Amino acid sequence: MTTARALVVPRNGDSSVLEVQDVDLAPPGDGEVQVEVAAVGVNFIDVYQRQGVYSLSTPFVSCSEGSGTVTAVGAGVEDVAVGDRVAWGAGLGAGGTVVNRAADTLVPVPDGVELDVAAAAMLQGMTAHYLVNSTYAVRPGTVALVHAAAGGVGQLLVQMVKAKGGTVVATAGSADKLEIARGLRADAVINYRDSADLAAEVRAANGGNGVDVAYDGVGKATFDASLASLRPRGLMVLFGGASGQVPPFDIQRLNASGSLFLTRPTLGSYTATREELLERGGSVLGDIAAGRLAVEIGGRYPLTEAATAYDDLEARRTTGKLLLIP
Ligand code: NDP
Repeated sequence: MTTARALVVPRNGDSSVLEVQDVDLAPPGDGEVQVEVAAVGVNFIDVYQRQGVYSLSTPFVSCSEGSGTVTAVGAGVEDVAVGDRVAWGAGLGAGGTVVNRAADTLVPVPDGVELDVAAAAMLQGMTAHYLVNSTYAVRPGTVALVHAAAGGVGQLLVQMVKAKGGTVVATAGSADKLEIARGLRADAVINYRDSADLAAEVRAANGGNGVDVAYDGVGKATFDASLASLRPRGLMVLFGGASGQVPPFDIQRLNASGSLFLTRPTLGSYTATREELLERGGSVLGDIAAGRLAVEIGGRYPLTEAATAYDDLEARRTTGKLLLIP
């Protein structure tokens, strides 16, 4: 047994329920490795799970993303060894000083990428990667609407669309955040907190035309405007609900607005095989190592101050990626 500290959700609720507890960690089982954790990623999925939007039985150890160095290897693990630097973006129980992880969920961290940056890039980086490559294949000439463009996924989306020769109409909730989006080469920026008619502003920014694809992780507050911003046969990508979940939807609206497409994707379906996980994770980390993709670490918090990190995220006070440092 190894003694570790873990971020526990004892019952559903707001951030005040979070507790750091001492836990006895068993040696890694079949197909698992034990990792000394360098950094844990803070994500909205942790919030949805803690609140009970995604129902899990409590208590559970929070968080799904992190990085660290392998300290022990269980039976049947062949492609991971003690001393390897690894990162992961899925699988509950990542919030701890030492954790056991399924070896087939790990991505090797290449030289030239620090472990904290790797932790910051896995979940949001692979998400942005599948959104621009697989959910909609962005190419030169594509016009994309990116909401919350100064956020974790948002900053990466802006960079990836631009790298493919696309045009970005970005939204954010403050002048400072719009400046971040501009710095990442967004072609047009809109403060959606000030906007009386967001879809009209998006279209005006695109020469009066609808956009090809709307990347919307804000959800409830922006969904209608995103739909109204699309060109005929455009794609609405609802990938999250930072402002709340979108209520039930009348499918006839896709017809009335011009044969639109709607998808609600999740990372798990786009990293379903080991091959796809390694390809996506490797591509994101490789772009970071080569200086083609920048990750802003917007805040580092000790595990004991996790509640503050989540409060900041949920209150729109953050930019880029937040990390917990165990
Ligand atoms: P962000 O860093 O983007 O933080 C959320 C941002 O959303 C805020 O900073 C804020 O930016 C904006 N926002 C607008 N309205 C609200 C509101 N009422 N409450 C809180 N935030 C609001 O977070 P992430 O990058 O971690 O995640 C973005 C979205 O992507 C989330 O919905 C998340 O669930 C989703 N996601 C989905 C995945 C998938 O595979 N489907 C995987 C990973 C993330 P501003 O101040 O500029 O408005």
